[in-house]
Amino acid sequence: MISKETIQRIMDATRIEEVIGEFVSLKKRGANHIGCCPFHNEKTPSFYVSPSKGIYKCFGCGKSGNAVGFIMDHEHYTYPEALRYLAQKYNIEIEEERMTEEQKERQTERDGLFHVSEFAQKYFADLLYNDEMGRAIGLAYFHQRGLSDDIIRTFGLGYCPDEWRNFTDHARRNGYSDEVLEKSGLTIFKEDGKCYDRFRGRVMFPIFSISGRVLGFSGRVLSSEKQAAKYVNSPDSEIYDKSHTLYGIYQARNAISKEDKCFLVEGNVDVVSMHQSGVCNTVASCGTSLTTEQIRLIKRFTPNVTVLYDGDKAGIKAALRAVNLLFEEGMHVRVVLFPDGEDPDSYAQKYGSTQLQEYLRTHEENFVAFKTRVLLEDVEQDPIRKSEVLKEIVNTIALVPDRIEQQDYIRLAASKLRMNEQVLLQELAKTINLNIIKQRKEEAQKQSQSTTPPTPAVAPPSNVPPPLEPEPDDYELMRQSSTYRAPEQILAAERPAEAQEEKLVRLLLNFGNKELPEEMTDDEGNTFTANIPVANIIVEEVVASDLTFDNKLYQQLFDLYRQAVETEQPLPDANFFANSSDLMLRNKALSLMVDSYSVSDLWLKEKHIAVPSIESRLYKDVEESVLSFKLKKIDQQIEALSYVMRECKNEDEQMIHMAKHQQLVELRKAVCKLLRRVVV
Ligand SMILES: [Zn+2]
Repeated sequence: MISKETIQRIMDATRIEEVIGEFVSLKKRGANHIGCCPFHNEKTPSFYVSPSKGIYKCFGCGKSGNAVGFIMDHEHYTYPEALRYLAQKYNIEIEEERMTEEQKERQTERDGLFHVSEFAQKYFADLLYNDEMGRAIGLAYFHQRGLSDDIIRTFGLGYCPDEWRNFTDHARRNGYSDEVLEKSGLTIFKEDGKCYDRFRGRVMFPIFSISGRVLGFSGRVLSSEKQAAKYVNSPDSEIYDKSHTLYGIYQARNAISKEDKCFLVEGNVDVVSMHQSGVCNTVASCGTSLTTEQIRLIKRFTPNVTVLYDGDKAGIKAALRAVNLLFEEGMHVRVVLFPDGEDPDSYAQKYGSTQLQEYLRTHEENFVAFKTRVLLEDVEQDPIRKSEVLKEIVNTIALVPDRIEQQDYIRLAASKLRMNEQVLLQELAKTINLNIIKQRKEEAQKQSQSTTPPTPAVAPPSNVPPPLEPEPDDYELMRQSSTYRAPEQILAAERPAEAQEEKLVRLLLNFGNKELPEEMTDDEGNTFTANIPVANIIVEEVVASDLTFDNKLYQQLFDLYRQAVETEQPLPDANFFANSSDLMLRNKALSLMVDSYSVSDLWLKEKHIAVPSIESRLYKDVEESVLSFKLKKIDQQIEALSYVMRECKNEDEQMIHMAKHQQLVELRKAVCKLLRRVVV
């Protein structure tokens, strides 16, 4: 535990260009230093280091972060290790924080579990080569599955003898207590005090943390006569949580970030086999269906996931559902389907590594295209079932958090289904709104449940289809919901306001703290000048007009600033984003900060010319950006409304639409007038 003060002193002393300069040859260019990226292969430099902001960003592979993050990524250090490295470099004495008794106890328990796990891993691995039974049974099994000694060592594979207490006795002799053996799950204790090895008679797959520590095990049974489960896993403990761990992540992490892609397979053996075939960016979710935490683990290295499926029909249908979670987390999902009856391991064994790699390269498919194709296969000419397929596809697309990506997927699905994009967009709008309603109902239920005793659950009648159209009270809920999007709004998103949104976010990120003089009027009508930070001006304008961003990431960034402004907390800075575990957010924020075409450079250049002052230039920039954003949003609404008016058959509704249209046109004129004043 390094104290907060020490961390601050390390951060203050650290010069990012010096830290990175030890690994990368950097040249000064303007305010930045540039060089060739150490994380991907390149000949022309696209790796930028900004000394003033303390961050780096590669425009080639997208990697970004601060000095600590660089050392962690480059040297594969943990966070404390990286801090210690920097402390040593800058001669800063590390002050350790004193732990409370409870923290100490937890730490002792964790240490004990780490120790015994590592001890067990070494023991099992050792038996594989230095014990007669280990060689005859364990090693023979791995060899028979085509695994080389190299790969067996890389993954630390091992063997637990088929005796009751072989491991437990060995651990006891080496001083491990029954308590730690039980907590680690390596030994099972019965009520009568007897105990036995959990993994007896199994080959062992140790599960490593990202930094290479043994957390637990997965053991595969060898004898076929027993009714034992094929795989047994360590129970969750103070150090092991299977929903937070991926099998192979330690061995795969470098390759994942280098290839900017992660292959997801089903079994441990598939992972090992893929690595042996040279496809090292492969992991598996061991023993669980994929969880959000596991996806976030991948997201630390890449937003791109390719899921590998075995070729049997039942497997595919089940797997289709599991992928929805990946979409919700904003991952870019692709799919490779193996021929019927093959899995990655069997394919690699049958055809060899070159052909496996070739197969992966040539059979990768966008997930939406894949799903559409698979579902359409049994439907083809049946229009009713085709509309079911449409719903199913749209359900998936509705989960994608980024609006721009949603549009792309809709376009893709429309072409695959050979249907009009508008039809899919309407369906998308309906689905999103139904999802919102469902969510709100669940929230309301949760709230009422916490105040009233739960009523016994009644199973819903299974033959009644769910209502497709929202009921009247649902409609109210829908209208109240701030995230409600009418079909016309979704149509408007066809031409997203991305450029305008980016400009605003860029101003927030780079000049949020910069104070600008603003003319104000007090209660008695006296005018005075107050200095207002750029972030406050922008947040106020956007909130007052109730505007939202089309791009989900920009919305996320804006919300962070809004929250800071509204709670009067310090604004997020480069360090804040560099430490963010959300890779996409981090990369977007830092690239807008280091971007060589950033606003800062523009007005630094203009400083040589006789422009009025930095403040007034920036003030104009802010005003212009806010107004352009508003204008774009109004245009979107007008366009959408025109579409709705064309389609509308009801006269009363027409009148309402026309009034609304007129209002928008007036508003547009006003904004244009303001904008002209600013621009001129
Ligand atoms: Zn790079």
